[in-house]
Amino acid sequence: MADSKPFRVLPRITEQNEHFWRGGREGELRFLRCQRCGYWIHPPAPVCPECLSKDVAPEATSGRAVVHTYTVNEQPWIPTLDPPYVVAIVELPEQEGLRLTTNIVNCDPYEVRIGMQVRVTFEEYDDVWLPFFEPAGSAGGEGR
Ligand SMILES: [Zn+2]
Repeated sequence: MADSKPFRVLPRITEQNEHFWRGGREGELRFLRCQRCGYWIHPPAPVCPECLSKDVAPEATSGRAVVHTYTVNEQPWIPTLDPPYVVAIVELPEQEGLRLTTNIVNCDPYEVRIGMQVRVTFEEYDDVWLPFFEPAGSAGGEGR
């Protein structure tokens, strides 16, 4: 992890998305889930798109994911983010199509591959916990 955190544009916290942005406080990656049919809902919505139930509530996922696609950014598009860095879309095993755009951190950007197993890690900025992903089973973590 870097010595100093880069500046990040933080999301606006609402009642509907607070579980997502603050779940990292308890180390949990949370999404809304339909309590009737079990469908995971992301981005947050007040109604389940599968069964139209309004009985939706935040639940923790495993925090594991697979890299679906990614790009290595070598241009300093964001002045305070040092390139190269990896922007990726990861898919969670909980549900096909349950995907998240994130950064892959704590590894060489050129070692990231599609299909790579990753797990969530959080960085706190002003009471917001940004979910990033790091290689699963990397040094210092649990094995696979
Ligand atoms: Zn449902």
